[in-house]
Amino acid sequence: MIRFEHVSKRYPGGINALTDINFELVQGEMAFLTGHSGAGKSTLLRLILMLEQATRGQVLVEGRNLSRLSMRTAPRIRQRIGMIFQDHKLLRDKTVFDNVALPLMIAGLRYADIRKRVRAALDKVGLLQRERAWPLALSGGEQQRVGIARAIVGMPPVLLADEPTGNLDPELSASLFQLFRELNSLGVTVLIASHDLALIRRMGQRVLVLSGGSLIDDIPALEGGGAA
Ligand code: ADP
Ligand code: ADP
Repeated sequence: MIRFEHVSKRYPGGINALTDINFELVQGEMAFLTGHSGAGKSTLLRLILMLEQATRGQVLVEGRNLSRLSMRTAPRIRQRIGMIFQDHKLLRDKTVFDNVALPLMIAGLRYADIRKRVRAALDKVGLLQRERAWPLALSGGEQQRVGIARAIVGMPPVLLADEPTGNLDPELSASLFQLFRELNSLGVTVLIASHDLALIRRMGQRVLVLSGGSLIDDIPALEGGGAA
């Protein structure tokens, strides 16, 4: 599903953000990506989203070698990937419903289909009763869940998250990670960048550890804590 083969990324100016990264995430797997600030987590996610290109090596997503694709195909690759940001990027002049509907409107779906899918996505994150609310009327945790609903509304096979719990308290963070696990149990491949090591350990999932741009550890999921 996602495979890195000897991937290095050097930014203009000489910073080696990633060095010889190798790992594979198979379909339906869930993993955390951790490491200190500057370890290369965001860069790794940006390579998967084709927001950056590898300097060396190959990134494969669903069997497609991204380095062989032109940047023009990036939007098509991104349609297959749901992305969740720390600052969820909700439009404050649109209701919860309209925020979640946005990717489907862009894709040109019929309103009846949009309505059905948006409500299903909001139901999954427990916010169906808030569909008419404005983002600023919601708590931080609720806003983050709207961002997740928007990321999953197109039913992408892959879900990426960059520090999704950054501004949330430990309890909300734990419930958000639980939500990712539920989505994973529905078959979605999930990769979550987070430096919240204590919380990650409790999840019992596979953990990829980055340090200074190198993958220094790949801890397998605990028995019974794994995917599905
Ligand atoms: P993390 O997400 O783990 O904090 P990043 O991937 O953001 O790590 O950064 C890895 C390294 O690459 C850092 O040294 C950072 O300063 C550098 N870096 C990130 N983005 C850029 C960029 N656009 N240009 C130059 N250097 C960058
Ligand atoms: P985080 O640590 O949360 O990943 P950063 O503060 O490292 O975020 O990066 C924020 C933005 O700045 C990103 O778009 C990243 O690519 C860019 N960036 C980070 N480090 C550098 C750098 N040294 N030079 C240029 N851009 C950078």
